[in-house]
Amino acid sequence: MIVSVVIPVYNEEEIITVLFQRVMQAMENWTKDFEIICVNDGSKDKTLSLLLEAHKKDSRWKVISLSRNFGHQAAFLAGLSHAKGEIIGMIDGDLQDPPELLIEFYKKIQEGYDVVFGVRKKRKEGFWKRIAYRTYYRFLRKVSQVEIPLDSGDFSLMTREVLDNIIASQEHSLFIRGIRSWVGFKQYAFEYERDKRFGGEPKYTLRKLFQLAYNGVFSFSTFPVKLLTTLGVAVISVALAYSTYAITMKILYPEKVIQGFTTLAIAIFIFSGVQLLALGMIGEYVLRIYDETRNRPVFVVKEKFL
Ligand code: UDP
Ligand code: MG
Repeated sequence: MIVSVVIPVYNEEEIITVLFQRVMQAMENWTKDFEIICVNDGSKDKTLSLLLEAHKKDSRWKVISLSRNFGHQAAFLAGLSHAKGEIIGMIDGDLQDPPELLIEFYKKIQEGYDVVFGVRKKRKEGFWKRIAYRTYYRFLRKVSQVEIPLDSGDFSLMTREVLDNIIASQEHSLFIRGIRSWVGFKQYAFEYERDKRFGGEPKYTLRKLFQLAYNGVFSFSTFPVKLLTTLGVAVISVALAYSTYAITMKILYPEKVIQGFTTLAIAIFIFSGVQLLALGMIGEYVLRIYDETRNRPVFVVKEKFL
């Protein structure tokens, strides 16, 4: 059995040497047959040359270098699509997720699970970042059609079968933790404490984080479109209630009502409601087109007893 572990790195020159030692040590303690696929996501510092040095020291440390910075999720996918193992791991390159835990993950796989993913019990990040993550994952869980586990990241171990299904889905707005959950199979949430970054600065800029958060919401929920429809219906209801009130006023106390105001107010109210509702309806069709164009299969078969 071969184990592949994919690690994306972007401008991590401070960390590569230690990353190599720690990951290799952890893997040696587990199995001899493994490959590390380190994906250089268009780094502009010495990351690539350090990675290649590591590759020279031990050819099980493989390097894939992308032509520019494509982002963390794309880098993961690049590595995953080159993985040859029957068991595949995903881990960040900044040592926030202890590579030693992969062996513990494997024990769960031996117990019969197909995916074991890390769930962050404690985060050693800044206060605001923690609040933002917490809120986001709870919101996503509320609105998503797929059950995406709380506070889980990419840190995980899975079987070949699961990986093949993830790759087959060919999603472009990548949110791997979502699609990993979407494919189903037996999944185990493994709680652990997330360490601080070993060195350097976080490589996720605020913009990239928002992009990822967006992908999570828009690829796994129809909430934004449903919101339009709901708002439309709400506005029309309010408009009807208001119309009744305004017309009654007009009939009972015509002297108190400003000329022309009632008609104008009702018209604005009702038409904004109708427009929102219409947008929501068009949105429904766009959603369907979106669903048809992306390659997510309709179902995933786990076993057959024919
Ligand atoms: N990373 C990457 N491409 C990017 C941004 C990040 O390959 O465009 C890598 C980075 O080198 C690290 C991992 O993805 O190994 C996680 O990034 P980071 O630690 O910045 O994310 P955070 O832990 O803050 O979510
Ligand atoms: Mg990190």
